Amino acid sequence: VKFVYDFTEGNKDLKDLLGGKGANLAEMTNLGLPVPPGFTITTEACKVYLDSGEEPAALRDEVSAYLDALEQKMGKKLGQPDNPLLVSVRSGAKFSMPGMMDTVLNIGLSDKSVQGLAKQAGDDRFAWDSYRRLIQMFGKTVLGVDGDLFEDALDKAKEAKKVTVDTELDAADLKKLVTRFKKIVKAEAGRDFPQDPREQMDLAIKAVFDSWNGERAKLYRRQERIPHDLGTAVNICSMVFGNLGPDSGTGVAFTRDPASGHQGVYGDYLQNAQGEDVVAGIRNTVPLAELERIDKKSYDQLMQIMETLENHYKDLCDIEFTIERGRLWMLQTRVGKRTAGAAFRIATQLVDQGLIDEAEALQRVTGAQLAQLMFPRFDEQAKVEQVARGIAASPGAAVGKAVFDSYTAVKWSRSGEKVILVRRETNPDDLDGMIAAEGILTSRGGKTSHAAVVARGMGKTCVCGAEDLEVDTKRRRMTVPGGHVVEEGDLLSIDGSTGKVYLGEVPVVPSPVVEYFEGRMHPGADDADELVEAVHRMMAFADRKRRLRVRANADNAEDALRARRFGAQGIGLCRTEHMFLGDRRELVERLILADTQAEREESLKQLLPLQKQDFVELFEAMDGLPVTIRLLDPPLHEFLPDITELSVRVALAESRQEPHENELRLLQAVHRLHEQNPMLGLRGVRLGLVIPGLFTMQVRAIAEAAAERKAAKGDPRAEIMIPLVGTVQELEIVREEADQVIAEVEAASGTHLKLAIGTMIELPRAALTAGQIAEAAEFFSFGTNDLTQTVWGFSRDDVEASFFTAYLERGIFGVSPFETIDKDGVGSLVKAAAQAGRATRPDLKLGVCGEHGGDPESVHFFHEVGLDYVSCSPFRIPVARLEAGRAAV
Ligand code: PEP
Ligand code: MG
Repeated sequence: VKFVYDFTEGNKDLKDLLGGKGANLAEMTNLGLPVPPGFTITTEACKVYLDSGEEPAALRDEVSAYLDALEQKMGKKLGQPDNPLLVSVRSGAKFSMPGMMDTVLNIGLSDKSVQGLAKQAGDDRFAWDSYRRLIQMFGKTVLGVDGDLFEDALDKAKEAKKVTVDTELDAADLKKLVTRFKKIVKAEAGRDFPQDPREQMDLAIKAVFDSWNGERAKLYRRQERIPHDLGTAVNICSMVFGNLGPDSGTGVAFTRDPASGHQGVYGDYLQNAQGEDVVAGIRNTVPLAELERIDKKSYDQLMQIMETLENHYKDLCDIEFTIERGRLWMLQTRVGKRTAGAAFRIATQLVDQGLIDEAEALQRVTGAQLAQLMFPRFDEQAKVEQVARGIAASPGAAVGKAVFDSYTAVKWSRSGEKVILVRRETNPDDLDGMIAAEGILTSRGGKTSHAAVVARGMGKTCVCGAEDLEVDTKRRRMTVPGGHVVEEGDLLSIDGSTGKVYLGEVPVVPSPVVEYFEGRMHPGADDADELVEAVHRMMAFADRKRRLRVRANADNAEDALRARRFGAQGIGLCRTEHMFLGDRRELVERLILADTQAEREESLKQLLPLQKQDFVELFEAMDGLPVTIRLLDPPLHEFLPDITELSVRVALAESRQEPHENELRLLQAVHRLHEQNPMLGLRGVRLGLVIPGLFTMQVRAIAEAAAERKAAKGDPRAEIMIPLVGTVQELEIVREEADQVIAEVEAASGTHLKLAIGTMIELPRAALTAGQIAEAAEFFSFGTNDLTQTVWGFSRDDVEASFFTAYLERGIFGVSPFETIDKDGVGSLVKAAAQAGRATRPDLKLGVCGEHGGDPESVHFFHEVGLDYVSCSPFRIPVARLEAGRAAV
């Protein structure tokens, strides 16, 4: 195998092998763009190293060959004393992990070659500054020396000279600092800073490999659901310098605005600086448009390159560039991260530009992004106290208590507080605080600062660069213009779409996207903004493409109507237990307590008209669309009072010698019905089999409601669903009784009702005997909540709060199987049961109504295994429609 690729040998499709950065450097090189020459060590080499602890045997020689070629091309040798070639060693995984892994710049500098660099550059100060940066970066990332020691030494040097910024240190100062830094390395790492340039490079390569498994990187991958076994590539790139004077500089840019999608000039530029200075948000940048004034030639060339890149990648790109003494160099490009709203707008814009088609457009957005757009925003009418305005870095409306460090953010959020993490700027060490916070606010840095990039990636609200805020992290407070002091714990509201920062809690209003789905805002109307228009069009693309139908889990007419507005094509699950609560509880109690058949029938008779009315309303709301009604499922004790509460009531009444006969009977019933494992007890079809008349009452209510709707010229399409079936015999008995009741209602009303009867598949046994069960079922609906519970043996009510965190941390699964379908286990049962069911009954209708029905990844799976529909809560319907469309592309 080949472990090294020159930039001229790769291309953008080799991300698995070359990582994102390496693949795109190669692509740009081959496009003829000015990329400093270099080569990439593959992720395969990294994987070998991570698996065995040793680099592949062939790697060293291959690197030597590619280094030779690079040296030839550049006309200088790595670390050569009089005319050194310097290189950067950068990580670059398949998926971008901003700031999570290591990078070392200026490799090749030594006590000798620093002189050569000074000569090359004609600048002593620059050479010594580069050398001290190398020792600092190398010491920290490769040799594991505490970075603060270098920072402190740097601070001391400035203090000694009574200056405040690095640039005021001259060559002599920096030379002294180099000596100091080398001492720190020696003392802390127990070895000298390596003077051999090749040794520097080899150690840096290894350090980059190792950084794949750094704590930060692991946390980020878990959060972003990036697999842990991909490994990182390593890019060795000849150095160009943005810090060689005012005609040099470095910047980042987007080919479009990553927040709105608009075309234009978006980016930041920092004169006389190296790339790391921009990303770290340490010095304040100027808007990219300023570059036109500073260096028109480079600016024009950059604009040209950005256009080339957009047309080539057919997407928004972000880039890093450096200008070395008036010469422009491209250091990186990739398809840029963007906000959810921009993703939708850009996708439709690109369709309009003829760059991509509808199918491709669907690949450019995700259901998760759509879900994000459906979050509420701040109420513009609300009385608010705006105290500052920063850069709108990642949209959303976040309210929480101000905290000034990551540790507190995590601690407070664990105890249920919502927090806003306030920092001057963030760095990778702040990652867990950022995850814990509702939103992130910084006083320094631009749209491409660490805070902004990471927050956008996480879909978290972020306002950055709010320069009017004086953040004092040591004293855990910040001062806003006018002098008001915000202490830790004070409420703040930040708007990531406008960059505005408010004191106190600002009320929120629904998102325009929800208003659109609700039918209160129309695309094309004057008030419709571009976002609504884009969402509207993308939904149409998805609806045209998708094969899966989307239904709603809804129990009442109100939810059903909303679901319909959101595009539901029916109800996939109406849980009837909600119809047994509230003021009907008393009737249900009487039913449960009934001693005689007559008493029981009396309660059922009273429940019947109430149930019927519920169904009439539901059928009306869903007229013309299928409505699947599930007969009662939960264990009966759920309808009785809490055992402890009731015991206390009885004991109190007893001690006060008050009458308590009813309570006592109730208590006895609660005891009688008490189960150790109610989830595995008397519930679902089992209830229907042991409580005479219960299911038939429900069937009668459904049938009579349907007949009534028909009489009113409606088009009711009811489907009756039996829960928790484990064997076909259960279903047969219930079915027989139901058929009889339906026949009675049909006879009485003189109509044919066409009521389908089907079952849930939510027990392993049902899935395993699906072929038999299909004999008695006209449809299956997979209850993946219970199926997950019973396949894994995980109590769905307990495990997420008890040990799932440990499971997630240890990587046993990347996401809860109650959230995303476990394809290998639960999913394979679904697939097999679907096949077996269809083998028995080719026109068997197949759906899913567990929570997974609205989960993007699961929707793709259900598409693949050939289900007919997914059913999910009303608010997730647009997401399911979109993902069903994406799955079909
Ligand atoms: C299921 O088990 O997946 C299901 C939809 O039913 P419930 O959540 O009501 O048990
Ligand atoms: Mg269930």
